[in-house]
Amino acid sequence: MRTKAAFFNRTRFIIGNGENTRFWEDTWLGAQPLALQYPLLYNIAQRKQTTVAAVLRQTPLNIQFRRALIGNRWVRWLHLVRRLMDISLSDYPDSIRWRLTTNGTFSVKSMYDHIIDTSPISKSMNIWKVKVPLKIKIFMWFVHKGVVLTKDNLAKRQWKGNKRCSFCQTHEMIKHLFLDCPMAKLLWRSIQITFNITPPTSIHMLFGTWLDGVNVLYAKLIRVGTCAILWAIWNCRNDLVFNRMNYINFLQIIFRATALIRMWSLLTPAATREPLVTGCVRWEMVAQVIFNRYGWRHANRIRP
Ligand SMILES: [Zn+2]
Repeated sequence: MRTKAAFFNRTRFIIGNGENTRFWEDTWLGAQPLALQYPLLYNIAQRKQTTVAAVLRQTPLNIQFRRALIGNRWVRWLHLVRRLMDISLSDYPDSIRWRLTTNGTFSVKSMYDHIIDTSPISKSMNIWKVKVPLKIKIFMWFVHKGVVLTKDNLAKRQWKGNKRCSFCQTHEMIKHLFLDCPMAKLLWRSIQITFNITPPTSIHMLFGTWLDGVNVLYAKLIRVGTCAILWAIWNCRNDLVFNRMNYINFLQIIFRATALIRMWSLLTPAATREPLVTGCVRWEMVAQVIFNRYGWRHANRIRP
């Protein structure tokens, strides 16, 4: 038993399909087993022997805890989730790497290279560099990965509720909710009028090439605004679905977004704060003009 422990302490698992690597107890992410890196979580985890595959194959992550994730546990959980997001399972078996040699006697070099090459580590939109709270970055990553619990995703898990969008009568899907819904279109249109930014046409583009060619500093501001508008749409939608609000107009969504931007602007350097706040004011002004001129007609049309 001691030999086995010594062996595993000196080996590192290179994740392929994740089926032969224990999630908590093998070393596969970082220099130690996750059990040692996150003892607060490990102590309350159910199924301590679970594999990486069992955890990562499902969204949301298939981990259950015996206690609520609050306080430090929640902080550690977000920290762990953030790291797990960069992991992609492949179809290849896991391999073992002997940590004391550089070439890794137990691993097949080509396979290692292959796994590195084929892991689509998501760095798109520089989500992780945007100056917004971590939970917002995680939400954005969920949007990008298509795993936000919109009604189509809920339905895949036997959810039996009404699948219609809260803002219109179409089936709610991620792309619809954030880009194609008349409500989303109106919001993006107000952004276009205010800032002369062409709205993205797909989620892929939103996180990919959308801001290519835009001045780097300007793009940073736009990304903060993008996080705000998506988060505002999502929260308004949740109010309609879960909190029994029966009507939200686009001005309310914009004011939620600008409140967020003002709050998040405190996370950015002083030089960026000013343009963020000014941008909010401009956007609100344009939105009010649109609303005053067309508001109720648009509102009537988009109302379910
Ligand atoms: Zn809709």
